[in-house]
Amino acid sequence: MGRVIAIDGPSGAGKSTVSRRVAERLGFSFLDTGALYRAVALHLHRQGLTGDSPEEALRDSIEGTMVAFRTGSVFLNGEDVSEAIRTPEAGHYASVFSARKAVRDFLFQVQRDAALHGDIVAEGRDMTTVVFPDAWRKLYLDASEEGRARRRYRQLKEKGIEISMEEALRDVRERDIRDSRRDIAPLRRAEDALYIDTTDMDLDEVISCILSSLER
Ligand code: C5P
Repeated sequence: MGRVIAIDGPSGAGKSTVSRRVAERLGFSFLDTGALYRAVALHLHRQGLTGDSPEEALRDSIEGTMVAFRTGSVFLNGEDVSEAIRTPEAGHYASVFSARKAVRDFLFQVQRDAALHGDIVAEGRDMTTVVFPDAWRKLYLDASEEGRARRRYRQLKEKGIEISMEEALRDVRERDIRDSRRDIAPLRRAEDALYIDTTDMDLDEVISCILSSLER
């Protein structure tokens, strides 16, 4: 098992960009676990399953499915779904299906395996609490609701996806509620995670803050 820098936080706190850049600076691999949840959700949705489907149906559908995150791209049974998983709809399904045990059990092992052969920066909602509770370093990135909605709005606009600020704010709020109130692996701040509020920080400031925290 390599060293793991585990980073959690709510939707839109800037975790992905920050984690990728920190990984690059340190020569670690980067694991975007939200991308894995989005890919599994895309698979289940394509198979006609919903958030209300029985646990057994979800398990049967996932069994034998291959999901992988490699050098920034996400593969679902060999298909590159990196673009398809980035729509607001895919984010919605990821949030819905990620509350289901069958999905979390399946991805638990995929995520653990990613740390077997080297050092990684893993970001998500339960990296510090469930998947890598013994991580080398633990961080929790947060930002105000408005700040996170603004970031999501800009990201989607840059990708050419039409969304209003109101919709972005609604999306952030709905996901916060679903991610933090679910029964299994809810989003919460681990007591031993370093808390960073990124609302008034730019990307470079967040990265420097994280890199200097690693030296301690
Ligand atoms: O981070 P991202 O927005 O891509 O994640 C999509 C959804 O996947 C989240 O809203 C959350 O419900 C789920 N997720 C999770 N656990 C993780 C990563 C993501 O439940 N470790």
